[in-house]
Order: sequence, then C-alpha cells, then structure tokens
Amino acid sequence: MKSKQLRVAMLSVHSSPLGALGTKDTGGMSVYIRELAMELGNQGHLVDIYTRQNHPVCSPCVTISENVSLIHIEAGISGYIDKLALYPYLAEFFQQMEQFRIRNNRRYDIVHSNYWLSGKVGNWAQVRWHVPHFVLFHTLGAVKNMFPVGSPEPELRIATEKSVSKTCSFILAETERERVQLIQLYAAAPDKITVIPCGINLERFRPLNKELSRAKLGIRNSELMLLYVGRLDPLKGVDRLITALTCLRHHRHLRLLIVGGDGRETKEFCTLQELSRNLGLENSITFMGRIEHNDLPYYYSAADLLVLPSHTESFGLVGLEALACGTPVVSTRVGAMDQIIHSGETGYLVSSGAPAALAEGIELLIPQIRDGFLSRAAIRNSVIEFSWEQVAAAMAEEYAGAIRGTHLRFMPDAASSLPAYGA
Ligand code: UDP
Repeated sequence: MKSKQLRVAMLSVHSSPLGALGTKDTGGMSVYIRELAMELGNQGHLVDIYTRQNHPVCSPCVTISENVSLIHIEAGISGYIDKLALYPYLAEFFQQMEQFRIRNNRRYDIVHSNYWLSGKVGNWAQVRWHVPHFVLFHTLGAVKNMFPVGSPEPELRIATEKSVSKTCSFILAETERERVQLIQLYAAAPDKITVIPCGINLERFRPLNKELSRAKLGIRNSELMLLYVGRLDPLKGVDRLITALTCLRHHRHLRLLIVGGDGRETKEFCTLQELSRNLGLENSITFMGRIEHNDLPYYYSAADLLVLPSHTESFGLVGLEALACGTPVVSTRVGAMDQIIHSGETGYLVSSGAPAALAEGIELLIPQIRDGFLSRAAIRNSVIEFSWEQVAAAMAEEYAGAIRGTHLRFMPDAASSLPAYGA
C-alpha cells in the first residue's frame, strides 16, 4: 500500500450494510458503506463497521472481507426498531460500542459516520477518541421536506443535522449540489465540506449480452424495455413514470419493469399498482419486487433505458449502475445525474419530472436506441472514473489529510453532551 495504514470506525447505526437492498431503509447508503469499506480494506486499511443489532441472532463480529469487520451492537429492545424511534438509544449504542472497542483493544484514527443518527454517535466518538470525524448525511431532512410527497421528516432530524454539521470535524457531500444545500440550509462552514462522489463496482456492473439477458428475464427482443430500479418511496416519483407511459402508448410492445420494494402489501406498492390499473397499463408494467444486487446487471443490460423519475436524490446510484452496464438513462436533474449524464450521448436530462417531460425524454432517445446510435462502450466509459478504487483512494487521502492537519474541531457543545461512560 502507498500510504500509511488507517484504522477507520465506520458508523451505520440504523441500517446494516448487509441488509436487503431495495427495501424500506436499505438502499444506496448500504451499498456505499459496504463497497467503500471493502475497497479501503483492499487498499490495506482496517475498517470496523458498527451497526445496531436489529436481528436477535446476529453474531457480534463478522469478517466481511479482508481487513473489514461488521460489529453488531446491542442497544434498546432486542430486534428491529424503526429508525425514527432510535434516537433515545443512541447514547446506549455509543456506550456499548465503547465497551466492545476497549474489550477488544481497538483504536481508530478516523470515525466516519453515515446518516444523521450515526452523526450524533460520531460526534461523541470524535470527542472521546480525539480523532477527526467525517459525517456523510446521505440525504438531508430539510431537502426532503421541500417536496410535498411522503411523510415529512421530523424537526429532530433537521436540528440534529444542523448541530452535527456544526460540531463534526468534516462534512462529506456526494455532489456539488449537496455542498451548496449544506451551506444554505444548515449554515455549514464551506471549508469543512469535501465533495467525494459515490463509487461504482465496475466488475459487477458491466455490459452483458442484451439478448441473453432478455432471454433470462423472459423479455422478447421486439419489446421496448424501460426499467426502474429502487426503493418504492413516494420521493422516487415512480407514479410520474407510470403516468408518463400514457403518452407513449403508440409504441407497441412497450414494457416497464419496476424493480425494488418490500413486498406486495406496502402502501406505495398498492398505490402504484392501482395507478397502473386505473390507467389501463397493467399489461405493460411488471412489478418485479426486490432483486439481488448481483442479478441487477442482467436487468440493466436487458433494458433499452433506465428511467430515474425522482423528486430528489442525494446521488442516484442506480443511474451510475445502469451507465456502467452501457444502458442510457433518462433522469430528472437530481443528485449527480446532471454531472454524469451527457444529454443525447449517454441519456437525457429532463427539464422536470412531470409525466409529459419524462415521456418526451424517453421519446427523444427511442430512435437513437432503435438505430443503434448510442454506443454501449462509450456509455460505460463515461463513468469509469467513478470506480470504487479511485473513490476509496480519494477518501483515504482525505482521511490522511485530516490526521496530518491541525484543524480538528472539538466543539464545546459536543463535549458537554458526551454520554457518561459505563452508566
Ligand atoms: N437495489 C437492489 N435491489 C433492488 C432495488 C435496489 O440491489 O431490488 C440497489 C440498487 O442497485 C442501488 C441501491 O439499491 O445500489 C439503491 O441506491 P440509490 O442511491 O439509487 O437509492 P436510495 O435507496 O439510496 O435512495
């Protein structure tokens, strides 16, 4: 390894990085933590990921790859607790984490917390361990609340994000847009924020043979296949994509595959299915449910295009996954999509998420896809700079810089709220 070995404590209190992707609380953040940790481990650093034991039979410490362990911490009642009810147990989580660390003689150079709940715990660790604390919120409550869909995020979340932004050593943002939001909405200090994008596993996400992928999924070659991948959450705007299909009815053999979701009983699933039925589209839309990450390359490779109709995204990882498989993406201007997609060459950025605008974006790409004008190799090449190898190296560089620097920020209000150890 080129640089000094770093010992990193990665916090993911509410969601295990090994959880079922595509379900309620498990999506891009889990992929981010797992892949970043594994690549840091690959590059010779030591990473311990701390998560709450949300299943009674988890073993306390699991090795997930070379140099990377996943540590389950008991806090609160046994079993699953909804993330919004976890806040009162954060101090206990920190204390249990400390006990594990001391018992096992673990020391860290860096704490990297993910999401606002972990950010709170990260601030305690920053003070106790005297190490730089990097927080990545993944999404911001104040941004989510700008959109009149889904349940509003609680004031506690927004207040915690603001206070953690103030007291942590460094803030990570995945996009320039998020950097600006942190400054404007939370008055975060600009010199504390570093933009490092999410990465992509280019080995897993690569172009596979389109015909063979379609045969595996039972999709005919004559079908125009649109794909959605992600959690079924109102902020994802899947209803707008379904409605957009009413403007595309003149395309015979049009099929939309919707991948993701907790199962058939959830409110959003029922709402989307009812919408498809009411619009007379039930024969054109297939709800696939949750698909394993390892199987998704078949879906991306079989599809003519991926549509990302979200109201907001912190990054929009599925867009990057599709592009890495050589599949063009039609997306709203969310997350990193406006930096990643080259309109007309690797996809299309729509002016708004209104169904008509989405349909227009799809319509514009159809002739290019049919006539083979979009090069799958060129689409994939446009995102190779996002390899986890490069992203993790940039992150390690950032960690090392923080350790070398003299600018650790131990804010008094973080220190004063430190939970009593051993209480
Ligand atoms: N995903 C998956 N199976 C599914 C649905 C989603 O593996 O059935 C994965 C998807 O490939 C991506 C992640 O979940 O890696 C979703 O990340 P994204 O950033 O797009 O959305 P988030 O869930 O973070 O809002």
